[in-house]
Amino acid sequence: MGSVIARGCVHTGLPPKRMLENIYQSSRSYCSFLMPSSFHRLGLLTGKSPDQILDEHTVFPYSVAFMPKEERERLRKKALELNVQTDCLGSLTKSVTYGVPFRRVCPQCITEDLNTYGETYWHRSHMLPAVHICAQHGVRLHETDMRLKRNLNKSFIHFPTPFGHKSISDIAPSFILQAVTEVSIAALKAVTPLEMDWHYVYRTKSLEKGYRIEGGAVASRVLTADILRFYGEKFLKDCGAQFMEGAAGPWPSLMSREGSGIPFAPVKHVLMQIFLNAESSQTLNVTGSYSRPGPRSGDSVALDTKAAKALQRELQKATRNGVRLTVQALLRTIGIWEKFRHHREKFPKTNALVQAFKASDQSERQLGRRKRLYNKPT
Ligand SMILES: [Zn+2]
Repeated sequence: MGSVIARGCVHTGLPPKRMLENIYQSSRSYCSFLMPSSFHRLGLLTGKSPDQILDEHTVFPYSVAFMPKEERERLRKKALELNVQTDCLGSLTKSVTYGVPFRRVCPQCITEDLNTYGETYWHRSHMLPAVHICAQHGVRLHETDMRLKRNLNKSFIHFPTPFGHKSISDIAPSFILQAVTEVSIAALKAVTPLEMDWHYVYRTKSLEKGYRIEGGAVASRVLTADILRFYGEKFLKDCGAQFMEGAAGPWPSLMSREGSGIPFAPVKHVLMQIFLNAESSQTLNVTGSYSRPGPRSGDSVALDTKAAKALQRELQKATRNGVRLTVQALLRTIGIWEKFRHHREKFPKTNALVQAFKASDQSERQLGRRKRLYNKPT
């Protein structure tokens, strides 16, 4: 909507301040670029309904997409009030603009807009936090040196140009940017599933992915570390979702907690959803011991039993073939050497077999006290 007002200035030759006075019929010096107010007046002037302005020309749908239904409806009602205050939607705007330091443009959109309209404008879908791909053209957006939030000076009427912007292609891998764009644009177009209890969803999915500690709680520290690794510090900082260490913990840990009652910026919902829906094998390096820092005792009992059986099979094979082995080689073969070495107490069955093996003919360690018996059937 900010672009519409700024284009109005260009077409009429009015300075921005006068333009706003004409639109709002009062004196004011600031107008939020992505979320102006007085939707009735703007609707009247543009031939659209106030709802259309709110839904199709502001970031309102995105900023409320992950809120509970009652909250969304309360904010919509408030936004559409006739005598709405300038800053009534300030916190909503902030939840969007906080993660967008500079305005972004799509080089292909600039060309098309110039061909179609003879002028360019700032697309709201390019200004969402963490969105670095044009949903229409699928190409990476460029970053301009224009801050998203501008005061009403003459740069208010500044439009995208074919030059003077740069690619920031190293911000994150394409598959991440693609997913972020899809989820964010769905939120902007209000096609996000609306009746979800998101905290419940995040908690359940985290547990399903193996982020579980003893007692059934979410392993939030490991989850947070994995989210940081997945997106990278640079990307998280760019979209305003860097971790703030506080008394309550960083946002991924709070979001995966049920009933925390804290509202989170939409971009954090977007990042959380993408991370939890990502294919573990492709994007995460989750191994048993890593994702489950506190394995339940049932797990290690099962592992011990499995290891003992595998060890028994290897020992029978060695005996049959008359091969001598070291304990380390044997346990490496069945894949538990590292775990066994550090947590011998958790493998009582396996350890009993290892001790018996050490005293047997097949143990390489006894070499030197006897003749070698390689390949000789016993
Ligand atoms: Zn484009």
